[in-house]
Amino acid sequence: MPRAVVLLGPPGAGKGTQASRLSAELGRPHVSTGDLFRENLSRGTDLGEQARGFMESGQLVPDELVLEMLFARVAAPDCRDGYLLDGFPRTQPQAEALERRLPESWETRAVLLQVADEILVERATGRLICQGCGKVHHETFAPPRAAGICDACGGRLEKRDDDRVGVVRERLEVYRRQTEPLVQFYRERGVLDVVDGSREPNLVFDDLVDLLGSEG
Ligand code: AMP
Repeated sequence: MPRAVVLLGPPGAGKGTQASRLSAELGRPHVSTGDLFRENLSRGTDLGEQARGFMESGQLVPDELVLEMLFARVAAPDCRDGYLLDGFPRTQPQAEALERRLPESWETRAVLLQVADEILVERATGRLICQGCGKVHHETFAPPRAAGICDACGGRLEKRDDDRVGVVRERLEVYRRQTEPLVQFYRERGVLDVVDGSREPNLVFDDLVDLLGSEG
């Protein structure tokens, strides 16, 4: 089983949903830079304030801020044996910094979740996130049993501020311009797999487990 897993894909591809299930399956922590920024925002930290404007407009937070935050997170003891990255890297300098940082003996795999643009906008704009446990529901595709309440923990479901249509389209543009080139970056290193992320989440998950293995 690889030590470092990079989940690549546009907003709405299912990275967060799959990463949280995979994390349990592989016994590796799920490290999401988007979640880390949102935590900083809700705690009102300086980092959160520095990131706010970029996040609200669908732009990328500058690399220095992302790298400092990410490297502090993966220095924690739970990441000692490996981790699962969701939403990082998103630029070439981030990918290069990660490569320099990973121990040489670690196997790294990158998986691209590929999904057509029309589906992405529909998925992202209907997304409902549990404020308690982070579970992702969807207004149309995975509605909660009781409106506004998480099926898993009873927490409150909310939309992300940046999941409005205009911002999602901007995030897609940013993905194409700044992040999609990383597909080639990982392909050249011979560590890339592509999975059709437009299918039902359980099928996508089964493919990911086949590719990445399970705990042990
Ligand atoms: P996500 O939850 O991964 O969609 O991230 C939400 C927002 O956080 C993005 O639109 C960016 O503004 C910011 N962000 C998250 N990860 C990164 C990253 N690796 N590099 C730059 N900005 C990021």
